[in-house]
Amino acid sequence: MTARSITLDDPLYQYLLAVSLRETPLLERLREHTQALPMARWQVAPEQGQFLALLVKLTGAKRLLEVGTFTGYSALCMAQALPDDGTLLCCDIPGDYNATAQAYWREAGVAARIELRLGLALETLEHIERQGLCGSFDLMFIDADKANYPAYLESALRLLRGGGLAIFDNTLWSGRVLEAHPQSADTLAIQALNLALKDDPRVDLSLLPVGDGLTLCRKR
Ligand code: CA
Repeated sequence: MTARSITLDDPLYQYLLAVSLRETPLLERLREHTQALPMARWQVAPEQGQFLALLVKLTGAKRLLEVGTFTGYSALCMAQALPDDGTLLCCDIPGDYNATAQAYWREAGVAARIELRLGLALETLEHIERQGLCGSFDLMFIDADKANYPAYLESALRLLRGGGLAIFDNTLWSGRVLEAHPQSADTLAIQALNLALKDDPRVDLSLLPVGDGLTLCRKR
C-alpha cells in the first residue's frame, strides 16, 4: 500500500498528546472551562493550538488575523507566540464567551496585543479592507461560520501579504465532506472551498489531517 497519513485511534492520540502537548496550566483551565459550554465543539484541539503557535514562530508572523475566536483558546496560543510588537486582530459575533476570552488574555498578559472586533465577520473584514489594510497581514486563522469559507478565502487573499498564510479549520468536517448530496450549507461550502483550492493558482496548499482537518494556504 502507498504510504499514507496514519489513522489515529484513541490510544495513539493519547500517546501523541502525552509526548508532545505542552499546554500551560492557564490554557488547560481555559479548555476545561470551554468544554463545559454548549458550543464546546467550536474549540480547537489543544495540539492544534500548539501547532498554530509553532506556525506563528516559524513564519515570523507579526500581524495576525483570526476569524472566529469563541473563548479565545487559539487566539491565546497565537498571541503568546508573537514577538512583543506583534498584534492579533480577532473577529467574532457578540456572545457571552467574548468576556471569557478577554479575561484569559488579560490573565496571560497578552491582552494588549489582541483587539477583538464584534460583528459579522464578513462586514468586519470589509471594514478592515476599507481601512487600507489589504496586503498587511502575515497569517490568518479562519474558524468561523463554514458557509462563508469561500468568501473568507477571497478576503484572506486580499488582506494577506504575498507569502502570507491562511489557515482554515474543519476542512475535513468530521468526514461529512464525503457526502454526495449534502443538505447543509456548511458542508456544501467546505466542499466548494476544498475543490476550489485544489487548483487555485494563487496559493500553495496543504490539507493536514490535524484536528478536524486543517488547510494551509500560502498566498503566492
Ligand atoms: Ca473549528
